[in-house]
Amino acid sequence: MLDLHTHTQASDGELTAKDLWTRYSEKNMGLGISDHLFRDGLSTEHGICAYLSQLESLPVYRGYEIDLGHSRILPDNLEDRFQYRILSVHSIRFPDGTVYSLEPYFAYRADAIGSFRNPFSKDTAKRVLERLLAVYETDMRRRHIEILGHCTATPFHDVLTSDSFLEGWENALLSLCEKYQTALEISELWQGPGLRMVQKAVRRSIKLSCGSDCHHAETAAKFCYVTEIIQQAGLNCEEYFFKP
Ligand SMILES: [Zn+2]
Ligand SMILES: [Zn+2]
Repeated sequence: MLDLHTHTQASDGELTAKDLWTRYSEKNMGLGISDHLFRDGLSTEHGICAYLSQLESLPVYRGYEIDLGHSRILPDNLEDRFQYRILSVHSIRFPDGTVYSLEPYFAYRADAIGSFRNPFSKDTAKRVLERLLAVYETDMRRRHIEILGHCTATPFHDVLTSDSFLEGWENALLSLCEKYQTALEISELWQGPGLRMVQKAVRRSIKLSCGSDCHHAETAAKFCYVTEIIQQAGLNCEEYFFKP
């Protein structure tokens, strides 16, 4: 299996790139490293250049994870050295200009740190998710994005569980994946998207990508949710998966 969503000490991960690669090679798994860009340590072109040189010295794919709605663009000489990009929601900008960070939600869900009380009503969640579709399209049009990361890991999805709105939203997002040739990530850390969305993606010939989103040694080179979804969807063929 190939894991294309992993983090190292270059951003907010625990292991070095070399240590991460050792763990994957021991399990005979393919590895792509995709640290956060423009935050958590990789915020300067000099730092990004050093990061790339380190990845180029290892048999790993070179990627990065970028925040939805980000505005910075890399110069071509750096961009061209990356083999893939992951676009994920980490914060939301509301129309009044305020920014809502999903980090407390992520910390609570991923590491049980702090507490999280979902402050959003169903109506607000629907409005936010509708607006996110437009932001996705802006970012996907601006530059080719190979992978859509953990797209259902938001508190907005949580308040809308089993609401029929989500099915229409998934269809609209999949239409963007189809239009811009972007793969849909099945995320181990965030246990999503569910079988329904994955099956719809396959029917539309949208590629899939496996991502552990591992930040810690214990979660490196481990797929449980991902393999379960792949089995349930009956996908035992590599042609369904994106490869850089
Ligand atoms: Zn992320
Ligand atoms: Zn990540």
